[in-house]
Amino acid sequence: MVELEPPLCQQRIAPVIALYDEAHLNDSRNFPQDGAKSQLNKAFWREKTLAQMSEQEWESLCDGCGKCCLYKLEDEDTGEILYTGVACKLLDIERCRCTHYRQRCDLVPECLDLRRGFDQFRWLPATCAYRLLAQGEDLRAWHPLISGRAESVHEAGVSVRSFAIPESQVKDLTDHVIEWLD
Ligand code: SF4
Ligand code: SF4
Repeated sequence: MVELEPPLCQQRIAPVIALYDEAHLNDSRNFPQDGAKSQLNKAFWREKTLAQMSEQEWESLCDGCGKCCLYKLEDEDTGEILYTGVACKLLDIERCRCTHYRQRCDLVPECLDLRRGFDQFRWLPATCAYRLLAQGEDLRAWHPLISGRAESVHEAGVSVRSFAIPESQVKDLTDHVIEWLD
């Protein structure tokens, strides 16, 4: 039995998670702006831990891919998480940004502040800057802090801009499971 209860969205940037079961599946989620790099200490992410970062540094790490603002389905039995192409109602898909970032946790109660729930990385995409740094890796070449341009994440095909579907247009999340190559 599929439970698509109020989306369990997690993150600052919270991904949105609902529960699913496999049988049903077979039936059928502030980003850096251009110029932000120059306002920050050079390559601060190589010199500080995530916990040591200022709020500005922390926020600038988000590459603006929007992946974490997609609904996800969690297998009730195994805990496996599947991504869908369905975006949270507050996501501006063209810009891949939350339209009410400061109020997001009030407007979408399940949206977690990643900085407060930092141990919950398993559902973050492999390209996510927070996950990469937490794993001891560097940012990717297309990251706006490396490229100096917010558009580079879209040009690299990493963002959800080209395929995300607004939540208002979807009846059944299980019809929109996606598989992406990180
Ligand atoms: S409330 Fe905003 S940050 Fe949270 S999942 Fe929705 S669009 Fe993303
Ligand atoms: S970089 Fe991470 S936190 Fe930022 S939008 Fe992408 S997945 Fe979400």
